[in-house]
Amino acid sequence: MSEKILVIAEVKEGELRNVSFEAIAAAKEINQESEIVGVVCADDDLENLAQELIYYGADRAVTVKHDNLKSYTSEGFGQAVLAVIDEESPDAIVMGHTSIGKDLTPKLASKLDTGLISDVVGIDVDGSQTVYTRPIYSGKAFEKKVVSSGLPFVTVRPNNIEKLDRDASRSGDIRNIDVDIKDLRTVVKEVVRKASEGVDLSEAKVIVAGGRGVKSEDGFKPLYQLADLLGGAVGASRGACDADYCDYSLQIGQTGKVVTPDLYIAVGISGAIQHLAGMSNSKVIVAINKDPEANIFNVADYGIVGDLFEVIPLLIEEFKNVKVS
Ligand SMILES: Cc1cc2nc3c(=O)[nH]c(=O)nc-3n(C[C@H](O)[C@H](O)[C@H](O)COP(=O)(O)OP(=O)(O)OC[C@H]3O[C@@H](n4cnc5c(N)ncnc54)[C@H](O)[C@@H]3O)c2cc1C
Repeated sequence: MSEKILVIAEVKEGELRNVSFEAIAAAKEINQESEIVGVVCADDDLENLAQELIYYGADRAVTVKHDNLKSYTSEGFGQAVLAVIDEESPDAIVMGHTSIGKDLTPKLASKLDTGLISDVVGIDVDGSQTVYTRPIYSGKAFEKKVVSSGLPFVTVRPNNIEKLDRDASRSGDIRNIDVDIKDLRTVVKEVVRKASEGVDLSEAKVIVAGGRGVKSEDGFKPLYQLADLLGGAVGASRGACDADYCDYSLQIGQTGKVVTPDLYIAVGISGAIQHLAGMSNSKVIVAINKDPEANIFNVADYGIVGDLFEVIPLLIEEFKNVKVS
C-alpha cells in the first residue's frame, strides 16, 4: 500500500504561497510513490486553489471552508487541519517553515503526540530510511534526522526545494469537508498591513540587503532601485534597523528572517555571525564593502571592495541595460 502524505498549503491575499508548491515537491522527495493530498483552509475560492495544488503535483485535495478561516488563528486552522488529519489518517505531513507554519505545526504535533522536524533544507532517501537535513546553531552546522517512530511531520524552509513544474493537464479529486470552527479565543477583527511594495522578502529570489554602511534611510533608496531592476526585495542587517534606516520587518539574521534567495547582495554589511545565520545559505552571495577584511567576504562568492555609493549606481546603470527574467 502506498503512503499518503498530507501537504498543508498556505494562502496569502487569496493566493497560494509558493512554499505550498515546494512542500508538494518535498513530499515527493520523501516518497515518490506516495499519494499527495493537498489541504487548503480558507474562507473562499477554495476550488481554484485546490486545483492549483493538483497542477503542481498533488494527487487530490481536501478543502475546509469556513468564515472563521478568513484570517489565520492557530485555533481555527488547528481545528480545520486536525479534522482533515482525522479523516485522512496520513503517513506523513509537510508544511512550509513560514511564520504560520512555525506557529501551527508544533501545536498540531503536540495534539497528535508526534515529533516535528522543523526547517528542513534537504531530504534524502537512504535505503528504507528518509533522512531530513536541518540547520542548527544559527546555520553553523547541519544535523541529519530520521524518524524512528511516530508520524513524520516536517516543515520545509521556503526557497530551498524546487517546486515541480506546473502541469495544467493534471486532474484530481477535490473534496470539501465540513468542519465547525468554533470556540475561538482569538478573533482577528482587522488586518492592518504595513505598506510594503514588491516582492515578499522571505520568498524573494533576489535580495539586496543594506547595512549600517548605507548610512541613512535615503541611502536605502538606490537599493530599492536595484532590487526593482532585479525583480527582488530589499532586506537589512540589524545594524541598519537599529539605526532607523529601515523597518525591522526587513531584518535578516538570527533574530530576523532566514532567507535563501538565488542571489543575495550584501551592501555595507560587516557579516556578523548573527547576520550570517539568516542568509549564508543563499545560493550566490555578492558582498559590497569598503573594508577588504570585512567578515562578509568570507561567505561571499563574489566580493566588490569599494564604496557602495559609487558601486550601487554603477550596478543600477548596468542592470538597466539587462533584461532580467
Ligand atoms: C543576540 C543578538 C542577535 C542579533 N541578531 C541579528 C540579526 O538577526 N541580524 C543582524 O544583521 N544582526 C544581528 N545582530 C547584530 C550583529 O551582531 C551586528 O551588530 C549587526 O549585524 C551589524 O550590522 P551591520 O553589518 O549593518 O553594521 P556594521 O557592523 O557597523 O558594518 C557596517 C559595514 O559597512 C561597511 N561600510 C561602511 N561604509 C561603507 C561604504 N561607504 N561602502 C561600503 N561599505 C561600507 C563597513 O566596512 C562595515 O563592514 C544580533 C546581535 C545579537 C547580540
